[in-house]
Amino acid sequence: MDHFPIFLALQGRRVVIAGGGETALAKLRILRKTTARLSVITEAPDPALQDLATKGQITLITRPFGPGDALCAALVYAATDDPAEDRRVAKLARADGALVNLVDNLEDSQFITPAIVDRDPVTIAIGTEGAAPVLARAIKADLEARLAPSLGVAARVGKGFRKLAEALPMGRKRREFWGEFYFDTAPQVIEKEGESGLAPALSALLSRHLAAAPAPGRVDLVGAGPGDPELLTLKARRLLDRADVVIHDRLVPQAILELARREALIIDAGKEGFGPSMSQGYICALMVEHAAQGAHVVRLKGGDPGVFGRLDEEIDALTQAGIAWSVVPGITAASAAAAGIGQSLTKRDRNSALRLVTGHDMQGFAEQDWRGLARPGAVAAIYMGKRGARFIQGRLMMHGADPQTPVTAVENASRPDARVIATTLARLPNALAEAGGNSPVILLYGLAPRAAEAALPQLSEEFA
Ligand code: SAH
Repeated sequence: MDHFPIFLALQGRRVVIAGGGETALAKLRILRKTTARLSVITEAPDPALQDLATKGQITLITRPFGPGDALCAALVYAATDDPAEDRRVAKLARADGALVNLVDNLEDSQFITPAIVDRDPVTIAIGTEGAAPVLARAIKADLEARLAPSLGVAARVGKGFRKLAEALPMGRKRREFWGEFYFDTAPQVIEKEGESGLAPALSALLSRHLAAAPAPGRVDLVGAGPGDPELLTLKARRLLDRADVVIHDRLVPQAILELARREALIIDAGKEGFGPSMSQGYICALMVEHAAQGAHVVRLKGGDPGVFGRLDEEIDALTQAGIAWSVVPGITAASAAAAGIGQSLTKRDRNSALRLVTGHDMQGFAEQDWRGLARPGAVAAIYMGKRGARFIQGRLMMHGADPQTPVTAVENASRPDARVIATTLARLPNALAEAGGNSPVILLYGLAPRAAEAALPQLSEEFA
């Protein structure tokens, strides 16, 4: 390690930037996050610098950097956009006893500025000693996505509470208290009430933990998306990462389950369309049982839990049992399938409405507004429609749908083994039978893959 990472106290200290252009402004953007006193020395200041000076945010000195300019400065940045001038500045500044950074000149610099993830007071510095800036940027992006923006606010408020929290015995109890605050209470309170709700929430949380009542369980009904782990929401990932118990559908692939905590109990509720499955009542009972014992349960459902997900039955069961719950939306199969064929689900002058329909319900094949669907330009995403394809075709034709209406079946949308079967209403049942397979399939009625769109008129002639 050539560079040792430290956090430098800059309150009220002088930091000098030599330079008046874009480079100096870029450095200022990050330095203005600190409580340092900033001086910019340049002959030719950018108007933005004049502006900052007028607002009292920097001291602007309009002349070339000279001897003594770095006296009492904690740090000096040579950011003149001129390597020779940067070296002159660095030499003078070093003579004044300051630490110097020459922008884009690692070799001659005494310190370097890391990439920063700012959740003040939580600050993460990432450095690669100049070896791999791309890597630093990628790590930064990853952390930015992973850490809720409210984390810093929570840490600031939490800091003021540390003394009070010492009333809890050290070790697990105190860890659990802070864990719940940072990852549960704080994000929720900030989302609902803003920062002002945090202090009362912390007091309430502390009282509860002091009363030593066992932590109540909860159930989060989480959308797992169509299968690609990258299509999970950040919230889903975070919850999976902390769940004690994960109860999942058959639709949720292994790659997503692997994101659950190592110690989590994973239960496959494997509900197949027509095959054997754990009964809905049993799934509800399982959720209630685990949450009642204090577990944090994630009920992981394919796609969006609110789309043909029997969400209400599960919420009713939880409400009845007095168990806290929340719903986390996910990307539904229709969105993933449409994306996969390069089409939009609604389009001006084609369809101003989109129907999400099911091919079968508890009673068998489901009846729909066939007349509406049969109109030219209608678009529907038909879930669980494979087995009922002949029935759906019959109903639509009976109500006057054009047999040449495009229908695209998308199997395993968003997954590596995705398949697209582009056909027409006339050919639908046969095309599906020929394709075979027993993976999840969604039918996009009224949509053809974008590339095949141009070929459709010919197709119509062929079948005419
Ligand atoms: N809640 C889910 C739908 C559950 S119903 C969602 O929002 O997507 C189950 C049906 O969804 C399957 O029969 C199939 O029609 C569709 N489906 C789910 N995931 C799919 C995928 N990756 N590819 C194609 N269809 C999918």
